[in-house]
Amino acid sequence: MNDQVLPPLLVASGNKKKLVELRRRLEHLGVQLVVPAEVGGIPDTVEDAPDFEGNARKKAREAARARGMWALADDSGLEVDALGGAPGVLSARYAGRHGDDAANNAKLLADLSGVPDERRGARFVCVLALARPDGSIALLARGEAHGRILHAPRGERDFGYDPLFEFAEPGLPQSGRGFAELEPEEKDAVSHRGRALARLAELLSGALREA
Ligand code: IMP
Repeated sequence: MNDQVLPPLLVASGNKKKLVELRRRLEHLGVQLVVPAEVGGIPDTVEDAPDFEGNARKKAREAARARGMWALADDSGLEVDALGGAPGVLSARYAGRHGDDAANNAKLLADLSGVPDERRGARFVCVLALARPDGSIALLARGEAHGRILHAPRGERDFGYDPLFEFAEPGLPQSGRGFAELEPEEKDAVSHRGRALARLAELLSGALREA
């Protein structure tokens, strides 16, 4: 067994919810997570890549280089079949203003007005990127959760498009339930971010031991 101390990992995000989830899922591996404020901040990355992977790579690379540390970034969003994959990388600012969940959900419902159940398929996607201190990418992990867009909000929990997303992968206890109706642990077990994190966790300590 290798008992070498792992280097700290800079989380390239100021989002508190993401940090709590990352801590819950990664710290038991012996990885110390550090937030940008603890190291003097990181530059704002312009998220202009055409896909989640490109934005995750860019955020991880820029944070790693800025601080000379291992850095972890994620990018996520919703892809709706009937909208040709929109809102996709624009999920956070679909209706214009960044992070306006109510406006984004209202626009999504309006854009899908009249679209029948069988054409309301959608998936959440999350890509995590781990960059070495020189900015090169050591690991990528992707997770997806498949479902459909409801005709009206359901449930009160969590954030973003959750009230409009019904999980629809067969054979799981979460099937047929809205993401905003699930307990946090139930959502983590099947969510795009939960699945990407599970993949990352399997490989993370090995990658950090390169240091
Ligand atoms: P970002 O990864 O922080 O850029 O988030 C992208 C956007 O995708 C968020 O603002 C949400 O609108 C949406 N999103 C990502 N993950 C979830 C989720 O688990 N539930 C609901 N919405 C999500």
